[in-house]
Amino acid sequence: MEDLKGKAKVLSEEEKAGLEQAKFSVDEETVGTKKLFIESYGCAMNFADSEVVTSILRDEGYTTTSKEYEASLILLNTCSIRDNAEQKVRKRLALINARNRGRKGVKVGVLGCMAERLKTQLLEEEKIVDMVVGPDAYRDLPNLINEVEGGQKAVNVFLSREETYADITPVRLGSNGVTAFVSIMRGCDNMCSFCVVPYTRGRERSRSASTIIAEAQDLFDKGYREVTLLGQNVDSYKWKNESGEIETNFAQLLALVADIDPLLRVRFSTSHPKDITDEVLYTIKKYENVCNYIHLPAQSGSNRILKLMNRTYTREWYINRIDKIREILGTECGISHDMIAGFCTETEEDHQDTLSLMDYVKYDYGYMYYYSERPGTPAAKKFEDDVTLEVKKRRLDDIIQKQRVHALERNNLSLGTTQKILIEGVSKRSDDFLQGRTDDNKMVIIPKDNFKKGDYVHVKITECTSATLKGIALTEELV
Ligand code: SAM
Ligand code: SF4
Repeated sequence: MEDLKGKAKVLSEEEKAGLEQAKFSVDEETVGTKKLFIESYGCAMNFADSEVVTSILRDEGYTTTSKEYEASLILLNTCSIRDNAEQKVRKRLALINARNRGRKGVKVGVLGCMAERLKTQLLEEEKIVDMVVGPDAYRDLPNLINEVEGGQKAVNVFLSREETYADITPVRLGSNGVTAFVSIMRGCDNMCSFCVVPYTRGRERSRSASTIIAEAQDLFDKGYREVTLLGQNVDSYKWKNESGEIETNFAQLLALVADIDPLLRVRFSTSHPKDITDEVLYTIKKYENVCNYIHLPAQSGSNRILKLMNRTYTREWYINRIDKIREILGTECGISHDMIAGFCTETEEDHQDTLSLMDYVKYDYGYMYYYSERPGTPAAKKFEDDVTLEVKKRRLDDIIQKQRVHALERNNLSLGTTQKILIEGVSKRSDDFLQGRTDDNKMVIIPKDNFKKGDYVHVKITECTSATLKGIALTEELV
C-alpha cells in the first residue's frame, strides 16, 4: 500500500495539458473528514454539475482535494460528445486505477454523459469503476456511496423529467471569485441527428426563475461580477405557472437577472438559431450589463447537410438571424459558432458553403470539430460515416484557418477603441499583467497597476493577435 501511495502523485502540467479541457478539484479548507477528488470533462454544463455534486457531498462530510492520492472518493464527470472525449476518460480511468487501487477504501465513480451512455458496461464488462451515476441521479450519491462502501457496485442512470437541482447551492470549484456558471435548464429536445446529448441528458426542463435569480443574487452578494446562464438551448427556456401558462421566457429571465445590479454582467450559452428571438436581442440592447455577445452554433453552411443534421433551419434562416443581430446590436456584437466538418455525405461543395457562410458572418470566435459518429444517434443509424478521416481533418483545418483570419480581422476593429473590461485575475503569462474580458467576450491583457480581480476598468486597445487584445487603462479610477 505504502509503495503505491509513493508512486501516486499530483498530475504533472504535461499530463494536465494532455487532458485538454479537464477541470480538477482544488484543495479546500477542511470542512469534512473525507476527501473528494473530482475531475470534470466537456462542456460548461458538466463543470456546473460537478459543483452541484460537490455541494451534495459536502453535506455528507466530504472536502475537495487537488491530490488524487489523498482522496477516498475519486469521481470523473464525463463527456460523450465525441469519441476522443470518451477515450481520454478511459485513459484517465486506467491511470487512476493503476495508481490508487492498492489504497485501502478508495472508491472510483464515473458521473455524467459517459455513465449514462455506457450504463453498467463500465462495471460489468470493463470492471474499472465502483459506481456509475447519470446526470439526473446526483441526489442519490449518498445512498450509492453507502452501497459501494458495503462492498457492492452501485448504479443509478435514471433520467428524470423534473430534476433541475434547483434548490442546491453549488460549491464553486477552482473559481476566480468573479465569474460563475448558473444552470437554467437541463436536457435537450432537439434531436440533432449527430448528437448524443438528448440520450445522455434526457428531456428538456427549465429551472424555476426564482431559484435562478436567488443564485445569481447570492453570487453577486459574495462579490461575483459575472454570471453565465447555461442550457443546451437557452432560447427555449420557459418557466410555467401552475396552470401551465408561460410565466417567464428567456428574454424575461435575462432582464430579471440583469436587474439584480448594473454591476453584474450577464452572459448566456447556448443559443439555437431556430429559437433565438428578437425579444432576446432587444433585451441585450436594453441592458448595458447583458453582454453583447452571442454564441450561435451553425454546424454547417450547406442546406443539404443542415437538413441531414436535423437542425431545422436553413442557411437563409441562419443568415437572417445574423442580419437581425447586426441590425439590432450593431457590428460590435461578438458572435461565435460551432462548426462540424465532414458530416455524413458532405461534399466539397457543402464544405465550400460552410466556408462562405463564415465569410458572410465573420465570426469573432469558433469551436470547430470534425464529425465523430456516436452510437445510437439518428445519424449513426441512418447514414454512413463516409467522409474519410483525412478529408475530415483537411476540411476542419480549412475552417480553423479561416476562423483565424476572421478573428484577427474582428480583433483589429478594436484597435484604438475604448473598452470596459471586467478583471478576472492575473495574466497566465506574467504576474505583472492582469486579464479581463470585454463586453463582447474578448480577453484583454493590461499592466497590473493597482487594479484587482472584480474591477471594471476602461482600457484603450493598443495591440492584438487573433486570440488576445492588449490595452492600457485609461484612468486609474475604476468604472
Ligand atoms: N446545444 C448546443 C447547440 O445546439 O449548438 C451544443 C451542444 S454540444 C455539447 C457542443 C457542440 O459539439 C455542438 O454544437 C457540435 O458542434 C459538437 N458536436 C456534437 N455532436 C458532435 C459529433 N457527433 N461530432 C462532432 N461534433 C459534435
Ligand atoms: Fe445536441 Fe442539437 Fe440539443 Fe445542441 S440542440 S444539445 S447539438 S441535440
